[in-house]
Amino acid sequence: AKIFQASTSEVYGDPEIHPQHELYWGRVNPIGPRSCYDEGKRCAETLFFDYHRQLSLKIKIARIFNTYGPNMDTNDGRVVSNIIIQALKDEDITIYGNGNQTRSFCFVDDLIDAMIIFMQNDKIVGPVNAGNPKEYSMIEVANMIINLTKSKSKLLFKKLPLDDPQKRKPDISLIKSLNWSPITSLDEGLEKTIKYFINENK
Ligand code: UDP
Repeated sequence: AKIFQASTSEVYGDPEIHPQHELYWGRVNPIGPRSCYDEGKRCAETLFFDYHRQLSLKIKIARIFNTYGPNMDTNDGRVVSNIIIQALKDEDITIYGNGNQTRSFCFVDDLIDAMIIFMQNDKIVGPVNAGNPKEYSMIEVANMIINLTKSKSKLLFKKLPLDDPQKRKPDISLIKSLNWSPITSLDEGLEKTIKYFINENK
């Protein structure tokens, strides 16, 4: 059997290299509020590689970038679910900081396909970036969701959490070499996710 580690783009921290390539070591605060997650995932990658080197464990490590879609938890606190729920209720939309920070959002079905294709491949151990390289600011995402939901919500700017990465975008050349590319646009994925939250809150 092979063992899969669902790692994260958070291993890159608040990056100085853009887009983030697998060879980049990252810029992570070891003692901040996000550190338990970031450093925990980094340590897990280390352990996977030690077991791989010392015991020839068959490991596969994928660094998953921001992913969204139906079945997200309403109380997850992630930007896509928060904004959709607020927009559907015509409530203020919470934007942390000035909203110019960026993320690259991958629709869940595309991500699952990436994981399956990666697991079927016997040559690449990883780490391999898995995500959609199309980059958006949080203001752009909020405006897209306002348009798609025809919401009357307004943007409400709040304090930016400490160590919130300013930008994030995967270099996906490695996973593309396995013949995978994301196919769902943000518009299309958001529509499916909005439908899910409408049904969920009926
Ligand atoms: N964010 C926001 N409003 C929210 C939730 C999140 O503006 O209601 C911002 C957050 O500060 C971050 C970005 O959206 O810059 C993505 O946040 P999320 O928690 O979804 O993912 P992560 O920061 O782990 O990439």
